Amino acid sequence: LCCRADIALIGLAVMGQNIILNMNDHGFVVCAYNRTVEKVDRFLANEAKGTKIIGAKSLEDMVAKLKKPRRVMMLVKAGSAVDAFIDKLVPLLEAGDIIIDGGNSEYTDSIRRCKSLDEKGLLFVGSGVSGGEDGARYGPSLMPGGAPAAWPHIKKIFQGIAAKADGEPCCDWVGEDGAGHYVKMVHNGIEYGDMQLICETYHIMRDMLKMDNDEISGVFAEWNKTELDSFLIEITTDITKFKDTDGNHLLDKIRDAAGQKGTGKWTAISALQFGMPLTLIGESVFARCLSALKDERVVASKQLSGPEVTFTGDKATFLQDLKQALYASKIISYAQGFMLMREAAKEFKWKLNYGGIALMWRGGCIIRSAFLGKIKDAFDKNANLTNLLMDDFFKAAITNAQPGWRRVLSAAVMNGIPTPCLSTALSFYDGYRLEKLPANLIQAQRDYFGAHTYELLSEPGKFHHTNWTGH
Ligand code: NAP
Repeated sequence: LCCRADIALIGLAVMGQNIILNMNDHGFVVCAYNRTVEKVDRFLANEAKGTKIIGAKSLEDMVAKLKKPRRVMMLVKAGSAVDAFIDKLVPLLEAGDIIIDGGNSEYTDSIRRCKSLDEKGLLFVGSGVSGGEDGARYGPSLMPGGAPAAWPHIKKIFQGIAAKADGEPCCDWVGEDGAGHYVKMVHNGIEYGDMQLICETYHIMRDMLKMDNDEISGVFAEWNKTELDSFLIEITTDITKFKDTDGNHLLDKIRDAAGQKGTGKWTAISALQFGMPLTLIGESVFARCLSALKDERVVASKQLSGPEVTFTGDKATFLQDLKQALYASKIISYAQGFMLMREAAKEFKWKLNYGGIALMWRGGCIIRSAFLGKIKDAFDKNANLTNLLMDDFFKAAITNAQPGWRRVLSAAVMNGIPTPCLSTALSFYDGYRLEKLPANLIQAQRDYFGAHTYELLSEPGKFHHTNWTGH
């Protein structure tokens, strides 16, 4: 049994078990371990029965069963559990061995862990893993970053088990230290945005166009055959038509108060820290927060008035506009997400491969879509593209979508349907495309009350102060 396992995997909850089975399917020998050791025997006797998977009774036992350099992957609860395992592993490993954290860890923790393990001669990898349980089992999207020297030793396993899109693995090296977990965090933020955008179109169909669930499901099914083809639209098609055991639509019975685990919030916080206008993801997090104030909203609904919903236009034409509004807003959201990653890369000196990131998200993960193939094409054409909106394909798509997008938002405003993400996307677009914003007035105000100074259009870089009151 000595030294024959290709990799060890710690953490036999749903993600860990499925990744192990996936690795086994691809011919790798995995040694399984878990803090509660009884789970190892249970796993070997049940899910792993008849496979090449082996188990370990202790970390020492696990390490002894590994080929060198040793590869140890953790899929345990993010936070202190990861540090606890690292502390126990360090004395058992030797220089050049690799520790991989596949949990949803904060990228700042991965930066810290990478540095501290580097000082001990060990190679740390923080890898984003997306796709949930099914992805883990049959092909996740994997976003590994950390010590670059680890990559050649894990590439075969990672690209072997990852999802494939157009024959290419949805996994590539992301960048140094915390880059993998950073990119995974932005992925989750984009997921929040995509979900909220779909919810807003559903809201308009339900409350403004007065469509029933089956009709709505039919529209999403149609959209899924177009440029909006994606996992989230696909599951929305299923969800909107799903009937409960009593024959009624389950969706109508679900309490409209959204939960969240934090990765959308982290993305928005990071955007604020780096001064990047990630408005759509920010609004999607706040939309969940507003939804969670259900009890307050119930009280307010009886006291605060709004316009009557009066839609009189042509439904089929409006649905075309709505599709364009969704598509254009999605383009804006991804453009903003890539702007944030570019800024973080500058800050942390990561060499991010943006086309590679689009490919990693192309399959396996929750935001997988045909659209990501177009983003990959854009970065393949120009690796230094400053903004996705400057790519010819996306420029044309937005130009084409714009009239419908504006009509939808005007109608939503007049009918009192909130569209935080569809609207902020258009505001961002209108701001980004303007040479002259009203921030000249902000600068004047700041100088007026706080002597913060301003630059002149004719002399950028030179700062002036005016005594505005003559006192
Ligand atoms: P989980 O419920 O997040 O964690 C359970 C695992 O963590 C068990 O193996 C448990 O061991 C171990 N653990 C918990 N606290 C520990 C501690 N203090 N010390 C040592 N071990 C500890 O499991 P999961 O849902 O499979 O997720 C694993 C990781 O993947 C998480 O970071 C999660 O955020 C991430 N992830 C999950 C999904 C998903 O869809 N579920 C998708 C992507 C990423 P015991 O059995 O001994 O309690």
